[in-house]
Amino acid sequence: MRKPGGLAGAAACGEDAAMPSRKQVLPPPAVPALDPLLAELRACRACAAFLPFAPRPVVQAAAGARLMLCGQAPGTRVHQSGIPFDDRSGDRLRAWLGVGRETFYDAARVAIVPMGFCYPGRHARGGDLPPRRECATLWHPRLLPLLPKVEAIVLIGQYAQAWHLGHRRKKTLGETVAAWRDYAPRYWPLPHPSWRNDAWLKRHPWFETEVLPALRAEVGRLLGMV
Ligand code: SF4
Repeated sequence: MRKPGGLAGAAACGEDAAMPSRKQVLPPPAVPALDPLLAELRACRACAAFLPFAPRPVVQAAAGARLMLCGQAPGTRVHQSGIPFDDRSGDRLRAWLGVGRETFYDAARVAIVPMGFCYPGRHARGGDLPPRRECATLWHPRLLPLLPKVEAIVLIGQYAQAWHLGHRRKKTLGETVAAWRDYAPRYWPLPHPSWRNDAWLKRHPWFETEVLPALRAEVGRLLGMV
């Protein structure tokens, strides 16, 4: 006697009654994993006790981005606007990359993921404090795997270089930038585009004549501008 609904019995009889319908096997609509993570990140208060203002994480990311910019942490102006690199350093960085604001702020093409997402405060000796250490530890291992299309990461300043290059980093930032060919095309170590580095830029003219043309060519290729 045939057991009703039994798979073996149905197969033996050549029936497909036991097979789930097409409607039943369809997976639920995919929820982009990045969106909930970004919401969680934007609500982060993990190191609030150590920040001068209420946390305001500044980040730009979408799953399709092919270029990622990894800087230090927002300054006061970016903290106020909530827009990454919305300052003179950002203007210089865009010139270095060869992109305008429209492209730069297109999250579908450019991810901006700093080492610290909130303004860390001011150093007693002048300048901003380093990015909060716990920030990248907390968020980067969760965020970066959700940006699978990223092909090139621009490492702006020593903290980003230490995190991404690890022991491959040279003794000084200048030596690391000078060795850019060792890291390209995946990584592009740069000095910070702050006016504080004007003297460094003057002392190292090869940065503008050798590094930037190669960087712009790669950025143009990744962003479909060439
Ligand atoms: S700096 Fe980073 S860890 Fe601290 S509150 Fe902001 S997002 Fe969270």
